[in-house]
Amino acid sequence: MNQNQQLFAAAQKHIPGGVNSPVRAFGSVGGTPLFIKKGEGAYIWDADDQRYIDYVGSWGPLILGHAHPDVVAAVISTAKNGMSFGAPTALEVELADLICEMLPSIEQVRLVSSGTEATMSAIRLARGFTGRDKLVKFEGCYHGHADSLLVKAGSGLLTFDNPSSAGVPASVAADTLVLPYNDVAALEQLFAEIGDKIAAIIVEPIAGNMNMVQASPTFVQAMRNLTIKYGAVLIYDEVMTGFRVDLQCTQGLHGIKPDLTCLGKVVGGGMPLAAFGGRSDIMAKLAPLGPVYQAGTLSGNPVAVAAGLVTLKKIREIGFFNSLTQQTNKLITGLIQVAKETNTVFNAQSVGGMFGFYFSENIPVSFADVMNSDRTRFNAFFHGMLNKGIYLAPSAFEAGFVSAAHSDEDILNTLAVAKIVFTEI
Ligand code: PMP
Repeated sequence: MNQNQQLFAAAQKHIPGGVNSPVRAFGSVGGTPLFIKKGEGAYIWDADDQRYIDYVGSWGPLILGHAHPDVVAAVISTAKNGMSFGAPTALEVELADLICEMLPSIEQVRLVSSGTEATMSAIRLARGFTGRDKLVKFEGCYHGHADSLLVKAGSGLLTFDNPSSAGVPASVAADTLVLPYNDVAALEQLFAEIGDKIAAIIVEPIAGNMNMVQASPTFVQAMRNLTIKYGAVLIYDEVMTGFRVDLQCTQGLHGIKPDLTCLGKVVGGGMPLAAFGGRSDIMAKLAPLGPVYQAGTLSGNPVAVAAGLVTLKKIREIGFFNSLTQQTNKLITGLIQVAKETNTVFNAQSVGGMFGFYFSENIPVSFADVMNSDRTRFNAFFHGMLNKGIYLAPSAFEAGFVSAAHSDEDILNTLAVAKIVFTEI
């Protein structure tokens, strides 16, 4: 047994499934997960000291690459002054101001510790604001693991062939209405029938938890128009896409002002930090100003906020996003090219530093399309790449990420390996 195998065996003794989050277990691709010892720039090293080019980046946060010196320095210097106070700090004010400056739809923002907390709180707030219970979500979108959101969700639930979770009361699930992604007619019909009972639509405006699927412009417009018409709250869940697809997130690309936005991942620069915010009349319903309760011992944790602040300041530097977008584009066009050269049925797309690739002819636009791609081929490709030092997300239902640390050489190496693996599978 190598070190990874030994650690995985040991882990299973006291940790269910040996992991602290399900997709890490390699459940859908099979084999032993890597136990990561170290990360630097675009690379990670496993417990056997094997080096990999990393396209997971902790599932999105590490837009600057692993252990960026400025982020590490900010974390260390902040931690030296104390880890947590459970009292306000100046750093939180600076981060809140910066988020509101970068995202015009956010007039007020609250910091939390995970994407799940952000979406869960945003939904409670939307319900408290509207006085309504019904929530609309879309098939294949994942918004964290709160009860009302684990209905036909994506990410790990798809990996384990179980889009809804046990333990969610039927009475809670009954208030979550699930529609197909990008289906304007279904959305219009639902609002025509019960629009006045709907508190909110929550959507991944570029879905990244059923592989990567983009919302069409007509779908985006329909969500905005219908929520305005019926007085429902439009929640953009940009936990994954926020500061990842564009400096102004997906809402900037769409030219849409959602009522509430959920952020996570990049906003915390790799530390446990997330946020939700939006219209100040809605945010004013939150305790201590209003009747909607929401709280957290570690919310706005100074060490996490310090990592987030440095990360956001770096990505605002001139040319940062152009260069990240180009680098990701090189990877995608290169993969499409080598797939063609090897007669592999394959397609791929990217927005900013986020990408998706598919063992299917066309780019998927719905959950049903994603389910039609060739999963067996994905698994073979995943393991072929892993064996040759390229670390991709261990599931056909997850998006991938390029960081500012990925060099031309890293991309060219990845493409050379992909060409070999395409011919092998
Ligand atoms: N929303 C989206 C769009 C996500 O991608 C995720 C996590 N992948 C979450 C919410 C939940 O975030 P967390 O895992 O930090 O709870």
